[in-house]
Amino acid sequence: MANRIPRVPVREQDPAIRATNFEEVCYGYDLEEATREASRCLHCKTPRCVAACPVGVQIPDFIEALRAGDPAGAAAVIARDSSLPSICGRVCPQESQCEGACVLGIKGEPVAVGKLERFVGDWKLDHAAELTVETAPRNGRRVAVVGSGPAGLACASDLAKAGYEVKIFEALHEVGGVLVYGIPEFRLPKQGIVAREIDAVRRLGVEIETDVVVGRTVTVDSLLDEEGYDAVFIGSGAGLPRFMGIGGENLNGVVSANEFLTRANLMHAYDARYDTPIHAGRRVAVVGGGNVAMDAVRTARRLGAEATIVYRRSEAELPARVEEVHHAKEEGIRFRMLTNPVAVLGDEQGWVRGLRCVEMTLGEPDESGRRSPVVKEGSEFELPCDVVIMALGTSPNPLIASTTAGLETSRRGCIVADDEGATTRAGVFAGGDAVTGAATVILAMGAGRRAARAIDAYLQHK
Ligand code: FAD
Repeated sequence: MANRIPRVPVREQDPAIRATNFEEVCYGYDLEEATREASRCLHCKTPRCVAACPVGVQIPDFIEALRAGDPAGAAAVIARDSSLPSICGRVCPQESQCEGACVLGIKGEPVAVGKLERFVGDWKLDHAAELTVETAPRNGRRVAVVGSGPAGLACASDLAKAGYEVKIFEALHEVGGVLVYGIPEFRLPKQGIVAREIDAVRRLGVEIETDVVVGRTVTVDSLLDEEGYDAVFIGSGAGLPRFMGIGGENLNGVVSANEFLTRANLMHAYDARYDTPIHAGRRVAVVGGGNVAMDAVRTARRLGAEATIVYRRSEAELPARVEEVHHAKEEGIRFRMLTNPVAVLGDEQGWVRGLRCVEMTLGEPDESGRRSPVVKEGSEFELPCDVVIMALGTSPNPLIASTTAGLETSRRGCIVADDEGATTRAGVFAGGDAVTGAATVILAMGAGRRAARAIDAYLQHK
């Protein structure tokens, strides 16, 4: 019976070797492995995996095409709902989405939906030249897109396919948002995957201008009122880091995860051919438990440090992808769970020498549904370290909201938009982390696509 077949293991780099390099950890499936894994799908009458996918990818249909030896058909099924399969296959939290809902997971191991999606996405990138993409004739309307992360790229692609002239304005010198400056090479290859996804967007006729900070170089108002754009989509993300507000955070050696990862990834500090400085440290403490914290701690490890996660809840509450936690452990990352810093300690020269921490226990669930951490009386102790990386979450940068007339934001600084991305300013749409706060690639991609449909409807009636 199909469900007796064990999950096909995926090949990975040896942990001892990969902890010293930045090459991709996971090698993915080849065609034979992917076909074998695809044959495990039970094709449930009511597929719970589809309901659990934030964008409703028709998972059993693409898996069936793959099983039948038709990767092009599988790619076409996924493309109806997702524009970045090679990326989502690598970074989606499958354990709490499609794979978490798979019935095979009740008694055994779920179908490896993420690895199959990754296989199809990579196949599509390899065969891009042979595949035709249908695009409508140009309709003479122009749309400006702010930001080139998954939200902006997805919105721009769909609008270009619908016949719009689209230009993306990106603040950084490279295109891709968190996909290039945040998520490290060892999880998401930049040239091999992200750059090729961006090339595909360019081939649709989308123009991309880098080094343009909207709110400084141009404004949303000037794009609409002076530069002749008919609509604007804001996909500017949530790049503003949070700190704890504890003593010693201004000491030398305390950095945000965003800065640390940007130096390492975007500015190639890990590569000896680049002269970007990075304070890698010998003993690094990363405060937080999400994907950003795992990326920072594994980067610090690869740069030669003894690296530790400091997290105030227990392992069960870690918000990071299960696979990243598993990989981190294999690579020798230490985990100080139920631990919270109360001060950063410095030496006479103003450099970090440790963290003063308290131990925690878990109390009643808070508004997030997770049990809230409570300080254990008399548990204070010192954790020696020379670098502290804060990975406590991010919020949207207020620049665009503060320079755009009539654009409402929430108390948390997020742009207020409806489900289709319409903001409080006519002709201005928004989606992704700029609206939700820090979330996921697939949600940002889905929001960009929904906004593209809404922009099309808005301009058809204008
Ligand atoms: P972003 O990707 O942030 O892109 C926004 C873009 O807008 C950026 O390029 C920025 O430079 C540009 N911009 C900002 N302001 C301006 C301006 N004024 N003018 C012009 N351009 C501007 N999600 C997952 O699903 N799985 C993961 O494993 C995962 N890991 C992550 C690891 C890290 C380190 C980080 C930081 C995030 C991770 N995420 C992960 C979250 C995910 O990457 C984001 O939710 C997603 O990228 C949001 O997409 P976006 O398009 O809204 O914004």
